[in-house]
Amino acid sequence: MTPEQKAEIEAARADPQPTLRAVSEGMEAHLYRAHEVLDHGFVRVIDYMGDDAAITQAARVSYGRGTKAVSNDEGLIRYLMRHWHSTPFEMCEIKLHVKLPVFVARQWIRHRTANVNEYSARYSILDREFYIPAEDDLAAQSVTNNQGRGEALTGEEAARVLDWLREDSTRAYDHYEAMISQEGQQGLARELARMNLPANIYTQWYWKVDLHNLFHFLRLRADAHAQMEIRVYAEAMCKIVADWVPLAYQAFEDYRLGGAQLSAKGVECVRRMLKGEEVTQETSGMSKGEWREFMGVVDA
Ligand SMILES: Cc1cc2nc3c(=O)[nH]c(=O)nc-3n(C[C@H](O)[C@H](O)[C@H](O)COP(=O)(O)OP(=O)(O)OC[C@H]3O[C@@H](n4cnc5c(N)ncnc54)[C@H](O)[C@@H]3O)c2cc1C
Repeated sequence: MTPEQKAEIEAARADPQPTLRAVSEGMEAHLYRAHEVLDHGFVRVIDYMGDDAAITQAARVSYGRGTKAVSNDEGLIRYLMRHWHSTPFEMCEIKLHVKLPVFVARQWIRHRTANVNEYSARYSILDREFYIPAEDDLAAQSVTNNQGRGEALTGEEAARVLDWLREDSTRAYDHYEAMISQEGQQGLARELARMNLPANIYTQWYWKVDLHNLFHFLRLRADAHAQMEIRVYAEAMCKIVADWVPLAYQAFEDYRLGGAQLSAKGVECVRRMLKGEEVTQETSGMSKGEWREFMGVVDA
């Protein structure tokens, strides 16, 4: 963050306005403040709507007197999460300002259920800021997962990779600057000059989403299978959401993040195992991959 941006945040926080709207004390502490992610990135809350009570209030409207059986807010929220009754969670919204490398943004933007406004590299000049991984995060291609990384890169190879990443980023940005410069030349349009910039350059956007779809994003991107560079953003967001809607977040953590889904075959295998039968992959009716994942759940 630039000193100007930091000053803006402090000025905004120094001038609170009274409101009649629902306020989440946990979220008020986060409002505007940047949580640093990766080497130049951040995520910060610009605005939000609703709290845990907004979820239960909406659910009670739809259930009417039928909510008697689940009268306390925590029980009702857990019930809604357990039974995939998702619309009450859509009553809460959050608007984030995120600064992230372009290759992370490409994964992030696949989540279509948000509203997005991105920094325009047609209109403005991009900053000279590139994501360069920490040496510990450089890893070889995984031998078991085509879509992941395996052992850490070490020694000369790690140093060489870091050098190349830095050099390529610097050279590409130098050329970008030279192309747009209007000193002694016409200067190439920004919308064209940007095309030589690598995918580790940072971009920024405002990202607004409701809590239901945010949970869907977090379930996929805070998961161990997600690429580390997007997972760290999801983890920072998890902490914010935990403070914003603590009851909903606990239910999400329990049923979605930490929970597991079993197929009909998986449920049948668990029943057979509980009766004392020795079930193997061959007798389970599952493929090798399914069995590996199933055992990862029941025999972790
Ligand atoms: C670990 C991991 C690996 C991935 N690998 C790849 C990959 O190799 N290649 C690749 O292309 N993508 C990949 N993805 C992206 C993935 O396929 C999804 O595009 C992404 O996770 C967004 O999920 P979503 O569509 O459910 O989310 P959202 O777009 O937020 O949608 C949420 C839900 O809304 C509904 N919905 C939204 N839009 C529509 C629509 N137009 N029609 C019908 N229903 C809709 C769906 O039910 C959807 O689940 C990967 C994702 C993860 C987490």
